Amino acid sequence: MKIYDVAVVGGGPAGSLFAKCLSDKFSVALIDKKSDSENSFKKPCGGLLAPEGQKALSKLGMNLPKSVLVDPQIFSVKTIDLDNDIIRHYQRMYINCDRHKFDRWLFSSVGENVDKKEGTVTKIEETENGFTLTYSKDGNEETITAKYLVGADGAKSSVRKFLNPRFKCRKYISIQQWFYDKNPKPFYSCIFDSKNTDCYSWSISKDGYFIFGGAYPVENGREAFDNQKKKLTEKGFVFGEPVKTEGCLVLRPQNSRQFFMGKGNAFLIGEAAGLISPSSLEGISSAIISGMALAEAFSEGKNILKIYKRKTSNLRRKLIFKNLKVPFMYNKFIRFFVMKSGLLTIEVNEDKV
Ligand SMILES: Cc1cc2nc3c(=O)[nH]c(=O)nc-3n(C[C@H](O)[C@H](O)[C@H](O)COP(=O)(O)OP(=O)(O)OC[C@H]3O[C@@H](n4cnc5c(N)ncnc54)[C@H](O)[C@@H]3O)c2cc1C
Repeated sequence: MKIYDVAVVGGGPAGSLFAKCLSDKFSVALIDKKSDSENSFKKPCGGLLAPEGQKALSKLGMNLPKSVLVDPQIFSVKTIDLDNDIIRHYQRMYINCDRHKFDRWLFSSVGENVDKKEGTVTKIEETENGFTLTYSKDGNEETITAKYLVGADGAKSSVRKFLNPRFKCRKYISIQQWFYDKNPKPFYSCIFDSKNTDCYSWSISKDGYFIFGGAYPVENGREAFDNQKKKLTEKGFVFGEPVKTEGCLVLRPQNSRQFFMGKGNAFLIGEAAGLISPSSLEGISSAIISGMALAEAFSEGKNILKIYKRKTSNLRRKLIFKNLKVPFMYNKFIRFFVMKSGLLTIEVNEDKV
């Protein structure tokens, strides 16, 4: 059995960028359960690439191919406050992507020096040689060993569970439904509705589909989602029959104890480490930035964890700082004054073509 220097679990933005940026003096296995097949696992996501993620990719000279973009690109968000019955529009500079194609593009950009493996990691053990991982695909099991382990396996990380079973981060259940878009015009919206969630919901038009989703308390997520759909139908949203429904956990860190960067020779990057914005749930940029930071830490010295923590201290501080924005967005009384003030809003005349 080949012994690798590094085994990476998860080839989303964090895992792919880490493997891509890591020096080729390390032998690496990158394992992901996704594939190009129609029935592959697809990460439920709004697929909006924020300016910070765009900046991180540009630092690597990576330009987004047209095949990853969807139609249309939308430059404003319609913010709907159901508590105060106010609607405002704000400018946004997101790139509207096909999330699965985006992930597959990043994965395909990882160099040939990395052994890319398709399968689901089902078992992790610590041995005298490092870590032994078992992964399976279509009923066939394989095992690999590596000196270092990297968990890039997202919100429900099994690597994090293995390293730190008692780790706790605030979490929500995120539900998204896809519909054939029958709304008069494509749009992007952001919905606040404290009766159903203390987080938020969104809708986005993509290539003829209309996606509606939100992050809800884990206990009654589905009920809250259905209640919100009813309220939004009354506000003019056109849903129809869902084409597909998807769901997953999403983390929402409240303080620095809700990040976990690793232990010994094992490290966590991206949402597996809790690195996601608590105000907007935007996590692609943090995944990319932390993946790049860990790759640099590997090249810089022996105490990789210490270097990695130092390199991500700004990112973690920024994410925790975003909690200060939370009352302005999520407290319905403060939000009323912010939205009523018209600060930073743009006027959109929806009747004009
Ligand atoms: C509904 C929803 C909408 C969102 N919308 C946005 C958005 O518009 N913009 C934004 O920036 N962020 C958004 N986020 C957050 C964002 O999706 C995540 O924070 C981001 O994907 C984290 O990247 P990652 O690489 O850390 O993890 P992930 O993208 O979750 O990647 C983890 C990878 O690990 C693989 N994996 C997991 N377990 C195993 C296993 N056992 N074996 C093998 N492989 C495994 C998966 O296949 C996956 O490829 C959204 C989140 C949700 C839930």
